[in-house]
Amino acid sequence: MSRLVNDCFANSEDMISAQEALKRINNAVDQSVGTEKCALANSANRVLAETIYASRNVPPADNSAVDGFAFAYSDYEKEPQKFRKVVGRSAAGAPYQGQVSKEDTVKILTGAIMPKALDSVAMIEDVLVEDNEIQLPLGLKPGANCRKAGEDITQGNLLLEKGTFLRPQEVGYLASVGLSEVLVYRPVTIALFSTGDELLNPGSPEFEGSIFDSNRMILAAILRSFGCLVTDLGILKDQLEIVRPALLKASETHDLVITSGGVSMGDEDHVKNALLEIGELNFWRIAIKPGRPLALGKIGDAAFVGLPGNPIAAMVCCLKFVRPLVAALSGITQTAALSFQAHAAFSIRKKHGRTEWLRGHYTAAPQSIGNVEKFLTDGSGVLSSMIWANGLIELGDDVIEVNQGDLVTFLPFSELMR
Ligand code: AMP
Ligand code: MG
Repeated sequence: MSRLVNDCFANSEDMISAQEALKRINNAVDQSVGTEKCALANSANRVLAETIYASRNVPPADNSAVDGFAFAYSDYEKEPQKFRKVVGRSAAGAPYQGQVSKEDTVKILTGAIMPKALDSVAMIEDVLVEDNEIQLPLGLKPGANCRKAGEDITQGNLLLEKGTFLRPQEVGYLASVGLSEVLVYRPVTIALFSTGDELLNPGSPEFEGSIFDSNRMILAAILRSFGCLVTDLGILKDQLEIVRPALLKASETHDLVITSGGVSMGDEDHVKNALLEIGELNFWRIAIKPGRPLALGKIGDAAFVGLPGNPIAAMVCCLKFVRPLVAALSGITQTAALSFQAHAAFSIRKKHGRTEWLRGHYTAAPQSIGNVEKFLTDGSGVLSSMIWANGLIELGDDVIEVNQGDLVTFLPFSELMR
């Protein structure tokens, strides 16, 4: 069954905004990829495919937050300074098994279960110990240093919702209620190609007019950072007879087929023709820079994205448009990458009605809002600009100029590539 809505990527004759394109990408996906059981130990960076309720309380019983002596507050309140007998010891995993009256105390270690009848704990450092008796300090509060059963997780409560991306802390959270296996979405599988007669794999002998393929390395790494299983299918020569069967075959075993290059209107741009024969290809005119029409389509059940050949444009389109597409296919519900405001250390004028992403270098400022510089030139072929940058400056449709010191939105790469 197709995971994409019919006509989801219908041609966009009119110029659409970046927001509209993102909305359409979201709406295009009907279903996430399938699910699978996963050992909790391997579930970090996966997406939960079931909503989980707490089957138990955490902690399961009242226990001590410190090493010290457990006592009954009601008795302490009457006579704080009297010497009390220590009748036993409770350690984590080895609770005190005997009886204890409210007048007595039990030595207790961090994480150990509170003996019945006692409800508060004095820290060992604050207690005066004499033989088998102790004197508690003044000023202790009822329930001091005692962690209540269920104070972290209450049985029956919602723990995590379907669609939650599992970070280390979510994995630990699920472990704390005793789960050893969870239902997750399987990773999105992506077939990745570069296209172009000029392209060479790094390490191959050069020829006149050749350049090394950098896009595939960049895109594979970004897509893996999104949690996808990427099959690197190499470089396709600019020949319809090569491009067509390769894309068709890849579409049979992957959720998403991605190419870079070959989707402009040049003579050697065969991706478009191949798609017309084996699937559907549409071009969206999106009011963005860098960018050219974004090529979106379908081959059988697989989605298709044709990224620009230009490394900077390919990378920006992958971060801004493929990321949400992958997120929707992955079943993930929280997708927004964190961004923040920074002071522009530059001035520019910009076309109204277009979203632009500039390569930015952000520097934090102590006790104040940081500054962001933009790369000197706008050339979208210079990868060195991406080496210099640590994120993208996003200038929305409405912006027509930026003056030094204005607040602009900065999207750190560390947020976009995960
Ligand atoms: P195209 O869209 O195929 O016309 O490519 C546009 C520009 O991007 C051309 O200068 C290509 O040489 C360059 N380009 C295309 N694919 C890659 C790639 N995989 N790595 C580096 N540059 C590329
Ligand atoms: Mg090309």
